Amino acid sequence: MTELRISELQALAERAGRELEDATALEILRWAADTFGSRFCVTSSMEDAVVAHLASRALPGVDVVFLDTGYHFPETIGTRDAVAAVMDVNVMTLTPRQSVAEQDAAYGPRLHDRDPDLCCSLRKIEPLERGLAGYDAWATGLRRDESPTRASTPVVGWDANRAKVKISPIARWTQADVDEYVADHGVLTNPLLMDGYASVGCAPCTRRVLEGEDARAGRWAGLGKTECGLHT
Ligand code: SF4
Repeated sequence: MTELRISELQALAERAGRELEDATALEILRWAADTFGSRFCVTSSMEDAVVAHLASRALPGVDVVFLDTGYHFPETIGTRDAVAAVMDVNVMTLTPRQSVAEQDAAYGPRLHDRDPDLCCSLRKIEPLERGLAGYDAWATGLRRDESPTRASTPVVGWDANRAKVKISPIARWTQADVDEYVADHGVLTNPLLMDGYASVGCAPCTRRVLEGEDARAGRWAGLGKTECGLHT
């Protein structure tokens, strides 16, 4: 990709961020489908399939990228398999270069407890960067109400680290909006959401949330870490 192409993509992202701020999630995804076609994908943690469902309405058969860190809850893998089986999407599972056993041998066991930034870098960030190489734009399920670190998420923005357009079609949604969409469309959700988890990540780094905590308080609790680095 040339510098000109990158600067064009950046300008496109910044203009769309302004023009689509008040658009619906489906309108934003239809713009993405029309603009990028097969060079557009959705990433999903399989906490729910809301964005994948919306994207499949805009672009049937859309690629849905899932990072299998090797540390997921069985419920998360089950949700991925159910999404692949019943939705009009193409689920693509990315894996780290090392298995958990290989990582344990190289870095020692339970790296997630000792250096979660390195663990996330090896098991999430590197595989995602590899997986996104063939796309110009990716969509996420980030919402502004999830945490202070996500409060200014644009609906369309420029991911300077990866030189890609980053689309967050439900950035303006609340949890109530998500719940309503799930109910109205029968969207698959991770069973852990019915078991006290408000945000679902890797099992060693995720706990249930307590009353009054924000949705991501159960992620890396006690480790002073709030994001895995995919979105920062
Ligand atoms: Fe490792 Fe935890 Fe990051 Fe998963 S969330 S990659 S287990 S540090």
